[in-house]
Formats: sequence, structure tokens, C-alpha cells
Amino acid sequence: MSKFFSKKHGGLVAYTPGEQPKDRGYVKLNTNESPFPPSPFVSAAVQAGANGLNLYCDPENTRVNTAIANYYGVQKNQVITGNGSDEILNYAVCAFCDDTSPLVFADITYGFYPVFAKINAVPTKIIPLKEDFSIDVEAFCAEQGTVVIANPNAPTGICLSLETIEKIVAAHKNSVVIIDEAYVDFGGESAVKLVEKYENLLVVQTFSKSRSLAGGRLGFGIANEKIIADLNTVKYSLNPYNVNTLTQLAGEASMQDKGYFEKNVATVIANREYTVAKLEEMGFEVLPSKANFVFARKSGLDGGEWYVRLKEKGVLVRHFTSERIKDFNRVTIGTKEQMDAFLKATKEILQGE
Ligand code: PMP
Repeated sequence: MSKFFSKKHGGLVAYTPGEQPKDRGYVKLNTNESPFPPSPFVSAAVQAGANGLNLYCDPENTRVNTAIANYYGVQKNQVITGNGSDEILNYAVCAFCDDTSPLVFADITYGFYPVFAKINAVPTKIIPLKEDFSIDVEAFCAEQGTVVIANPNAPTGICLSLETIEKIVAAHKNSVVIIDEAYVDFGGESAVKLVEKYENLLVVQTFSKSRSLAGGRLGFGIANEKIIADLNTVKYSLNPYNVNTLTQLAGEASMQDKGYFEKNVATVIANREYTVAKLEEMGFEVLPSKANFVFARKSGLDGGEWYVRLKEKGVLVRHFTSERIKDFNRVTIGTKEQMDAFLKATKEILQGE
């Protein structure tokens, strides 16, 4: 740290993204990306758009926002897009949290939430997951503040029903409830359909997982138009041109290729069920996942050791060191071939090879 680093950021512990190694080719199952390339519509749109890069991009993100609004049956002024959903989540913490409205989230959830709180200097309230790693719904309903819930949760993959989400939203009439649906397309039910009914609900999604655009950096929020207007006030105060031209075009094109999206999602779900069955055959406990990853552990197998041995064998998964989950690993669902490579390596490790 330099001597110039502002005191207000003292104690800031930055988010650590998953490894993006360059040293060798891995079977890469550590950052919940899609194993499939973006839709062919995307490369055509990006190529056609390259000529316009001399101009600033559209600050209103009109075409991509319209495509998202049409897809979800909402108005354009109920949509905001960002440089990944991380940006939308940060805008939301900046816009809606303060000393009287702490950011409320689970102890085991997306690791960026506490970082957003810290950099925006807002207090936090942490609600432990229950013994079975599910969200403690009653505790969330009782705790006042700006709630953020990943649904399905990460890294557990466990999903709440829409009915339960509605209960939590209804219990917080005076604060915003953010439902982070980064993984919802893999088997959850989106809360977008509750947006008309609840003025305090903000649903956040991403193109990084089910739409194969992690490198394009595109996420979005859907809410009541007043919530979106507040988020736009933050956006225009930080980065009006927050989504570059090529990504805006990529997002619009991706939305137009519904068949490709549905096919890839179905494949990931099938590969997930296959992986779960095989892991269970080997004696693993796998939390019930509605995401494009599984979270698994095996009694007698040290989670850190399993991760390291997999890496030596060229398979990269995500390990977390916090006490409650240190014996788990989070395994992204890739192609059938990738999952077979992971399962084979795991079997070898169990056999001491
Ligand atoms: N929410 C959750 C729960 C995530 O796991 C991720 C991916 N790291 C994100 C949001 C952010 O995704 P992105 O910024 O790529 O849209």
C-alpha cells in the first residue's frame, strides 16, 4: 500500500476473483463460466459494430435494454444494464444502503457483497445459513435493512421458491430487496414477475453464465422505474458509458437467439444431474443445486487436499477456506467431456493415485 492510499479505505479487503491461469491448459471448472461459445448471432453483431468504435457508445444502452425489456415483458425504463451484474450490485448498495439501512446478507454467499458494503462505507448485517446450508428465511424477514440474496445461492446452489422470495420482499416494505439471479436460468424461478407488485424489489441478472458472455461483461437490473431512475443517478455519477458498444450489440444479439440459449441451458442441467449422480455413487454429499455448479464434500476427504490434487491433475475447481465450507469444493458444470475428466480425476484421488 502506498502512503497516499486514502484512510477511508483502510481495512478494505478486495474481492478475489477465481483463478484465470495462463500456465497450462486446465479443465476449467472454477468460475462458473459457460463451456459453450456465445451464439453465432453475437459474433456477427460484434463484427458489424466494430466500425462504429470511433464514437462513444450509447449511454442509455437503448438497444440492449429494449431487447431485455421485450424478453421479460417489462418497460424499457424498468431496465438498467451494467458492466457485469457486479456493477449493478455496486450501484444498488451505493444507492440504497446507509447507516439506517445496512446491507443484509447470508454468511455463506457471494463474496463480493461485503466488499460492496465496505467500499460504499455502509454497515452490514450477516445472517448465518441454517445447518443444512439453506437461507434462514424467518431471520431475513425479521432483519430490517437492504437485503441481498443470491437465488440460487452461491456457492451452495440452493434455490428458494418464488413464494419464499415474495415473503421476504413483502416483509421489507421500507427497504429494497435485491434478488441476485446470476444462476436462475439453470432451474430457479425468476422474481421478475413480482416487480409489478413490489416497488421495493430489484432483480439482478447476468449474461456471464447462461448466455456465455462472461468476457463481454454484461449484467442487468429489472425493477420499478423509480428504483431504476435511482440506479441511473448513480451510474451517471460514476460512468455514463458503462457498457461498451460491442457488448451492447452482443447482448442484444444474444437475447435474439432464444433457441441457442435454451439448448445450452438444457445441456448444462443434464450434465449437472449426471455429475451429481456420479459423485453420489462415489459417496459424496452434494447440496441440491439449481445452478451451473455443484457444491460437494466427502467425509474423510479434506476439501483443500481434493482441490490441490485435482489441480495437479489439470482440473481446476473453486475452493473456499472459510471454516463452515472448507471441506467443500464448488465445481462448475461444463461439457460432458469436462465432467468426465473431473470425475475420473476425483476417482483416482480417492484411490490414492
Ligand atoms: N452474483 C453472483 C452470485 C455471482 O456468482 C457472480 C459471478 N461471480 C456475479 C453476481 C457477478 O457476475 P458478473 O459481474 O459476471 O455479471
